Amino acid sequence: MDQLKETILEKGKILSPSILKVDQFLNHCIDTELMDAIGKRFADCFAGHGITKVITIESGGIAPALMTAVHMGVPLIFAKKAVPSTMTDPVFVTVHSFTKNVDYTLCMERSLIAPGDRVLFIDDFLANGQAFEGIRTLLEQQQAGLAGAGICIEKSWQPGRRIVEEASIPLCTLASIASMSPEEGITWNLDHETC
Ligand code: 5GP
Repeated sequence: MDQLKETILEKGKILSPSILKVDQFLNHCIDTELMDAIGKRFADCFAGHGITKVITIESGGIAPALMTAVHMGVPLIFAKKAVPSTMTDPVFVTVHSFTKNVDYTLCMERSLIAPGDRVLFIDDFLANGQAFEGIRTLLEQQQAGLAGAGICIEKSWQPGRRIVEEASIPLCTLASIASMSPEEGITWNLDHETC
């Protein structure tokens, strides 16, 4: 998606060969026009898949997931990284955080997903696929189907794509980075930009 890739080149910061900072437009300050375009692209990509709900993880995925849900006309659920005292019947899974290198508990209220729901996972990044696996496990506990994964930025040398493909889940990535370094910048993997 050219608009996203241009914004990454203009406003993203390569912190290391494996971490891209996107706080100027995606996960801290949010470019609302870009998010609207991303949401429309994911909605178009997964039209006809019978999606009944969109799911993401707080907080980086919320902006693109919300706009996707708006364009699809379905509710958005975001899984939480801490169990609030108000949650009455949670489902849990342990996930490893790529950026913080710690395990955390992902949870959501069981009643928000109904058995038979067809759920679309949206996230800001795909790296090692741990967030994807966590969501898949949460949905399995609720007998709901993971019907697709929409990823804004994939780092294609990391194992996330293989994990999604091995699970036979349709994957749409908008920008796929083949390599990056503070000195040499970003190269793109055009083969993986699937919608
Ligand atoms: P995974 O679970 O696929 O290993 O990593 C995906 C999650 O880690 C995303 O939800 C995102 O929050 C975070 N993440 C992975 N790589 C990056 C990165 O390069 N930059 C930022 N800002 N977050 C990342």
